[in-house]
Order: sequence, then C-alpha cells, then structure tokens
Amino acid sequence: MLPIDEEEDTARADVSGEIRLPATLEGTGPIPDSAEIAIVGGGVIGLAIAYNLARRGLTDVVVLERGYLAEGASGRNGGGVRQQWSTELNIRLMQESVELCRRFAVDLGVNVWFRQGGYLFLARSAAEVARLEKNIAIQNRCGVATRILEPAKARDIVPELDLTGIVAAAYNPSDGILFPWPFLWGYARQAAAHGVRIFTQTPVGGLERQKAGGYVVHTPRGAVRARRVINATGAWSPRLAQMIGVDIPTYPIRHEICSSEPLKPFLRPMVSELASGLYCSQSMRGEIVGGVTIPGHASTYGMGSTLEFLATYARRLVRLMPILGEIKILRQWAGPYDQSPDGNPILGAAPGHPDFLLACGFVGHGFMMAPVVGKLYGEWLTGSPPHEIFSRYTLARFADGVPQGEKEDFNIG
Ligand SMILES: Cc1cc2nc3c(=O)[nH]c(=O)nc-3n(C[C@H](O)[C@H](O)[C@H](O)COP(=O)(O)OP(=O)(O)OC[C@H]3O[C@@H](n4cnc5c(N)ncnc54)[C@H](O)[C@@H]3O)c2cc1C
Repeated sequence: MLPIDEEEDTARADVSGEIRLPATLEGTGPIPDSAEIAIVGGGVIGLAIAYNLARRGLTDVVVLERGYLAEGASGRNGGGVRQQWSTELNIRLMQESVELCRRFAVDLGVNVWFRQGGYLFLARSAAEVARLEKNIAIQNRCGVATRILEPAKARDIVPELDLTGIVAAAYNPSDGILFPWPFLWGYARQAAAHGVRIFTQTPVGGLERQKAGGYVVHTPRGAVRARRVINATGAWSPRLAQMIGVDIPTYPIRHEICSSEPLKPFLRPMVSELASGLYCSQSMRGEIVGGVTIPGHASTYGMGSTLEFLATYARRLVRLMPILGEIKILRQWAGPYDQSPDGNPILGAAPGHPDFLLACGFVGHGFMMAPVVGKLYGEWLTGSPPHEIFSRYTLARFADGVPQGEKEDFNIG
C-alpha cells in the first residue's frame, strides 16, 4: 500500500481534473456479494466517510444510494459553513471543517466555489444580543474571531441593509459558503478512484443480522454481506434503523429555500436574522440563495414548495434589504432537515449493535460538518483512537430523555 500522500497524487493524476461521473457511479449491473463496510446513503455524509476510509487504505467499501447522489438534503441546501456555534465541541469541529473546506479544491480536485465572506447574524432584541454574546465568548476562547457590531458597523459590511429595529450584529469573517453539488462529486470521484464502489439506484430494503457479526444488506440488485453497516441515510435514518429494531429519535422537517436571478456581486457575507430565521447569501454565480423559518411545520418527508414560504421570505428579505424588492425568484425547492432532539448529530454504534454505525441527526448543518465527521470516522475505523464525538454524540445519550448539557441552541441559518 502506498503512503497516503502518494495515493492521493495517484488518484488525482488518474482523474485529471475532469468530472467523469458515469465512470464513478454504478447505476446498473450486479453488486458485490460482500464488503467490509456498506455505507447506506449517498449524501455528503456517506460519501465523506467513504472517501476518508478509502484514502486511509480501507477500500473494500460499497456505498448504496437508493436514487442519485444529492437526491436528499445534500443536494438541496444553502451551502453555509460557519464556526458560530454555542458549544465548544461544535465550534472546534467546525474550525477543522472550515480548514478542510479551504483545502477541498486542491485535495479533491474539484472547484466547490468556497468563498469566505463571513456570516453576519442580526439581532432585534436584548435577549438575542445576550445569546450572541454568550456564544461569542466561547467562540473567542476557541480562537474564532467573531465580534459584536453596532448596527452602523454592520452596514459597513452590507451597506444595503435597512437597520430599522436591528440592535446589534455578530460577525465572523472566516465563515463562508460553497456550492454543494461539486462537493459530493469530489468525494464520490476520489472515493471511487481509490476503489470504493458507489451504487446509485440501489435502495436498501432489508437488513439481516448475522450470528457471526455483520449484516446481510438486501437491495433489488442483490444482497451484500457486510461486516459493518453505516447508516448515512439522513432524514430516512430512523427507517433504516427500524429494519433491525433500533429506534432513532430524529424526525424529518421540511425546509424550503429559493434562488434568484443572478445579480452583480454585492453581498459578501451570509446574512441571517435571528428572530425570523431569514438567511441569504450571494452565490459565486450571483444568485441570492436564501430561506426563512416557517414555524409550525409538521414532521414530513414532503418536498413540495409553498406560496406561504415564498411570500414570507419575500416580505422579510425586502424589509431587510429593500434593494432586493425587484428581483425575480427563478427556482424554489425544499429538503428535509434530519432533526435530532438536542440539535446534535448521532454517531457511533447503536446500543446492542456494535457493527451498525450511525451518522445521522445533522439537522441543518450536516453539510458543513461532513468534512470533519467524515475524517474522524475514517480515522477511527482504520485503527486510530475514537475522537470524543463518538462517545458524546451517541444514540445512548437519549436513553433518559434529552440531555441538556450538550444541547446546541444555535441551529439557525
Ligand atoms: C433547505 C436546506 C438548507 C440547508 N442549509 C444548510 C447549510 O447552509 N449548511 C449546512 O451545513 N447544512 C445545511 N442543510 C443541512 C444539510 O443539507 C444536511 O444536514 C446534509 O446534507 C445531510 O447529509 P446526509 O448525507 O446525512 O443526508 P442526505 O443528503 O439526505 O443523504 C441521505 C441519502 O440516503 C438515501 N437513502 C435514504 N434511504 C435509503 C435507503 N433505504 N437505501 C439507500 N439509500 C437511501 C437518500 O436518497 C439520500 O440521498 C440544509 C438542509 C436543507 C433541507
């Protein structure tokens, strides 16, 4: 086996910077009888883990995706990547993820349009300011340069803001945005270049536990005997886990989002208003991409779009940036948050199932956490000691209700 760096170079030379998806994905034909690891779910989490296993030499890995890559939340999100969180663990994880995002284009050989224009959170009440200040103290302790700004200073960063009713802002210049789709393509292509086989159009319909360990994973294209299964099916994770009688307390919440016609570049940071959950950023192509929280949505896998969302988003956005009053919305869509009870992911083995590993419950931040979680999973499963996320973000933590100590209360934007 080559050292990791040389392997990476070989893989990079092999793919020559072109996007050659058909060679990477196997949408037809038989699947192998056995694999060391079967990852179920071809979203960003499953692919990030696959890539990180393979680059560390564990290549007997299959990814089983029921539809196409980016079919789930990973192809439907806002691409925001931030270090402004409320717990030290999440802040430190995201510091590492941002570093991995910065290197992604070079390491994975694909341009993901990562742009560090910052994140600007806007507060309309003293309570919101207090919440920001509490989080900023922890962020600063970790080395994240977030600071509180007077409203006028926020306008120095975004002159188009209408600051009526805004009492303060929190700004960290090294947060950013990226274009989600090539991120998945980069992971998929490099995982495949290292030997991982990625099967699209391959829904897993059953799991059978083996006495000797591992599972038989049933699909319409055949069955794979896997020593370990990783559940990376996002909002569908409870359904997969139910196949072996494991209960996961996450639930899907539909979130809507939309994109405008392209405008001349003017908006550097992601802007997010705490009170309404409004967020918007300008993509590298110039579109304003954004959403807003519509309270009271029932748990659903539905991915339809509503006029209520569009009207609410338009009203909030134009109140905040009147200059956007005339823009045309070109595309509107929705995707599922995989909502966990304490806002944190669920990782590690399911209780009583040491070979059934979880990588779910990422709420509205799984995209930004995928680089670091994929890396830590890859390290652990190839022999390194497990990172603390695998003992703190377990399914077992919910055995006696929702643990308050770890709760992430900054699931916004
Ligand atoms: C509107 C919106 C905006 C968001 N904005 C952001 C953001 O700005 N930043 C951020 O970090 N995150 C954001 N998120 C959250 C982020 O998109 C998710 O946390 C992340 O994509 C989760 O990745 P995943 O791989 O776990 O799930 P998914 O991408 O949903 O992948 C799961 C995959 O499993 C497949 N699957 C399901 N069941 C089976 C089965 N039985 N057999 C085989 N395959 C199966 C599905 O088809 C799917 O492709 C947003 C989400 C939404 C909906």
